[in-house]
Amino acid sequence: MVSITPESPVASVFGRSPKRKLVEEGLGIHTVGELLRHFPRRYVQTKELSEVGTPEVGQLLSVVGEVTSSAVKTFQRGRKLQFRTEVRIRTNGLSFSLSFFSPYAGQAHSYAEQMPPGSRGLFTGKAKIFNGSWQLEQPHQLMFGEDGETETLSKLLPVYPLTNRLYVWDLIKVIRVALDLVTDVPDVLTPALRERYDVLDVMTALRLVHGPDDYAQAGAGQRRFRFEEALVLQLVLARRRAAQRALGAQARTGGGGLLSAFDERLPFDLTAGQREIGEVLRAELAQPHPMNRLLQGEVGSGKTVVALRAMLRVVDSGGQAALLAPTEVLAQQHHRSISAMLGDLAQGGMLGGAAEGTTVALLTGSMSKAAKDEALALLSSGEAGIVIGTHALLEESVAFADLGLVVVDEQHRFGVKQRAALTGKAGSPPHVLVMTATPIPRTVAMTIFGDLETSVLTELPAGRAPIQTNVVPLVDQPQWISRVWERVREEVAKGHQVYVVCPRISGDTLEEGESDQLDVDDDGEVITKKVPLAAVEDLHEELAGGTLQGLRTAMLHGRLPAEAKDRTMRAFAAGEIDVLISTTVIEVGVDVHNATTMVLLDADRFGVSQLHQLRGRVGRGGLPGLCLLVSRAEAGTPARERLDAVASTTDGFELSRVDLEQRREGDVLGANQSGFRSSLVTLRVLRDEKTILRAREAADELLHDDADLSTYPGLAAAVADIEASQHSEFVDKS
Ligand code: ADP
Ligand code: MG
Repeated sequence: MVSITPESPVASVFGRSPKRKLVEEGLGIHTVGELLRHFPRRYVQTKELSEVGTPEVGQLLSVVGEVTSSAVKTFQRGRKLQFRTEVRIRTNGLSFSLSFFSPYAGQAHSYAEQMPPGSRGLFTGKAKIFNGSWQLEQPHQLMFGEDGETETLSKLLPVYPLTNRLYVWDLIKVIRVALDLVTDVPDVLTPALRERYDVLDVMTALRLVHGPDDYAQAGAGQRRFRFEEALVLQLVLARRRAAQRALGAQARTGGGGLLSAFDERLPFDLTAGQREIGEVLRAELAQPHPMNRLLQGEVGSGKTVVALRAMLRVVDSGGQAALLAPTEVLAQQHHRSISAMLGDLAQGGMLGGAAEGTTVALLTGSMSKAAKDEALALLSSGEAGIVIGTHALLEESVAFADLGLVVVDEQHRFGVKQRAALTGKAGSPPHVLVMTATPIPRTVAMTIFGDLETSVLTELPAGRAPIQTNVVPLVDQPQWISRVWERVREEVAKGHQVYVVCPRISGDTLEEGESDQLDVDDDGEVITKKVPLAAVEDLHEELAGGTLQGLRTAMLHGRLPAEAKDRTMRAFAAGEIDVLISTTVIEVGVDVHNATTMVLLDADRFGVSQLHQLRGRVGRGGLPGLCLLVSRAEAGTPARERLDAVASTTDGFELSRVDLEQRREGDVLGANQSGFRSSLVTLRVLRDEKTILRAREAADELLHDDADLSTYPGLAAAVADIEASQHSEFVDKS
C-alpha cells in the first residue's frame, strides 16, 4: 500500500477526481496535511431537521430537511420537452422548494424516486426567493437511508467551508480516505505535554473532529487543536516579550522636582485606582527594560492624569515624553488641557515660569512650516520635556534628544507599526503606555496586545453623573424626530449644550464604504439603503434655518481646516455655541462639562464601542447626561440590537463583549494591530478564554525551561512559521 504523509499532494487521495482542482484552487489546499486541517465549521445532526431562520439571499445553505412532496413537471424549451423534478422540503423553520432539471423523463423520475416524501437528507443550494417562497438554487442533495454509501454516515455530519461546485460530501469522502491512508502525522505536542494539559494526540483528534459520533467527541477533538493553536500563539507573544526585555531601556527613576510640584498643585485628590496604577508605572519606569502597558478606563476615568504623572516622572529623570493622539482636535485639546493643568510648570525657561518647569510642545500635520520647525527644534534640543502630537510625530524629520516614554492615546487608531516608528526614534527603546477607553476583555488584550501588560481604572472620579440612553426608532415613529429637536431646545433653554453627530459630512458625495443601493453591514448582511445618511453640512443648513433657528449652531468635521476646527472647539468649550453638529471627530477625549445631551443620527451606522465612546462626551460636569440614538433600523435587525444593547448598559466591558461577539474574528484581530489575522484558525478569543489562559501559562513554563524550544522541534517550527510570516507582512507594509 502507498504510504501517504501530511506532505503528500492532495492528488494522492483524490486520484483523478475533478474535485481535486476545486480543492486546490478554490480552497488553497495542496497537501494532505492541509486537507486534514480543513476543519468543519459546524456539524449537522442527521437525526433532526435543521433550524433555519431567514437566510440572506444568495447565501449557500446546507440544511437537513425532510421531503414533503416531489413531482415531475414538464415544460417546453424551444421545440423540446424538458423535465423538472420539483421537490419541496421542510426544515425546523422555513420550507424550501428545489428544482432538478433534466432532458429525459427517466432521469426526472429517478430524482423523484431518490427523494420520496418522508425521506431525509442534507440539501445544499443558494437561498433565493421565487414567487414569494424560498428556493434552494442549483440544489444538491445527500439522502440519508439504508442503502449505498449513506448508511455509513455518522449521526453528526461535518459541514466544511466549501467552494463553488464542491459539496460537503465530496470533502467528507476524501477526508475519510485521507484519514485511512495517512500514516505518521507528527504531533507538535509531546506525550508529556498532552498529559499535562489533558488534550488528545493529533491522530485521535483528527478522527474525532472529522467523524464524531456525538458533540462530545467533536468537542474533545476541537479542544486539542484550539489548545495547540493558542499555545503556538502564546509562544510567539512570550518570545516577543522576552525580546523586548532583552533590548533593555533606560531606567527612569525621577529625581527632579516637577512631579511633586505638579502633585502639590493638583486641585483634586487622586482616586485610589489612579494612585495604585501610578505606583505600578513608577516601578516599571525604574526597570532597565521597556515598560509596555495598556491602561484601560472608561471615558472620564482620569487616565490622562495618570499618564501625565508618568510623563513628568520621565522628565524628572532627564528624559522626554511624547503623547500621541489620534486626531488633530484631540492633540490640540490635550495640549491645552495639559498646559492648563501644569500652569506655570509648563513655562520652563520662560520669565515667570517655575524653576522645575518644562516646555510642552505641540506637533500636528496642519501646523505651518515655521511652527513645525520651532517644535522640532524644541524636541531635538531637549528643551521640550513633553510633546503632544498626531501622526506627524512619526515622520522621519522628527528627532528627540532623549525620548524616554511614549504615551499612545486611544490605541485603536495606532498599530504595531506606528508604535515601532516612534520607538525607533529613541536611542534605546522607550517605555510605552497605551491608553484606551474601549474596554478590552483580558484574553483579547493578551492576544491582540500580547506583549502589553494591562491595568484598569475602574472607578470614575467624583462628580460624574449617570447617562441615560434612549433609542429613537424612526421606522415605527417617524414623528419622533421633531420631539428630539424639541428636547434639544429644552436643554439649551436650561443653559446646557448639545452635540448632534452624523455619520457623514455632506449629502452630495458618497463616503468610502457607502452606496445608495446595496451595502453590507458589520455582520456581513446585505442591507438596502434608499435614504441618504444624515450629513453634517445638510443638517446644519436645515436646522439652523428651521427647527433650531435662533440657537447658536456650528459645524465640526474632518474636512475643515485645522484652525477652524480648533476655533470651533474653543468656542463650544467656552459656551459660545449651543449646538455642535459634527462627525465623529468628537469621539474621543473631548471634554466640555456643560454639554449634557447628545443626539446621534443614523446611530446604527456606528459600532457599539464607538457609540459608547461618543456618549461619554456628555455627563462629564456633574450634570446628568442624555443620549438619543436615532435610527431607521427595524426592530429585530442586528443593527437595532446593537443600539438596544448600548441603551441598556453603560458598562463598557459588557458592551465590548457585545461588540466583539457581533464582529467577525478577523476584524477583532485586525492585522494592523496584531499581525495575527491570518494565523487564527480554530481559536475564538472570547469563546476560548480558558484555553488561551492555559496556553499562556503553558507557554511561559515551556520557555522558562527551554527558551529555544529545542526539545519541542514541532512547536519551534510552528512558532518560526508565524514569526517569519509576521516579519514579511511587516516588511511588506512598511
Ligand atoms: P480620560 O482620559 O480617562 O477620559 P481624563 O483624564 O481626561 O479622563 O479626566 C476627565 C476629567 O476628570 C478631567 O477634567 C480631569 O481633570 C478630571 N479628573 C481626573 N482625575 C480626577 C480625580 N481624581 N478627581 C476629580 N477629577 C478628576
Ligand atoms: Mg482622555
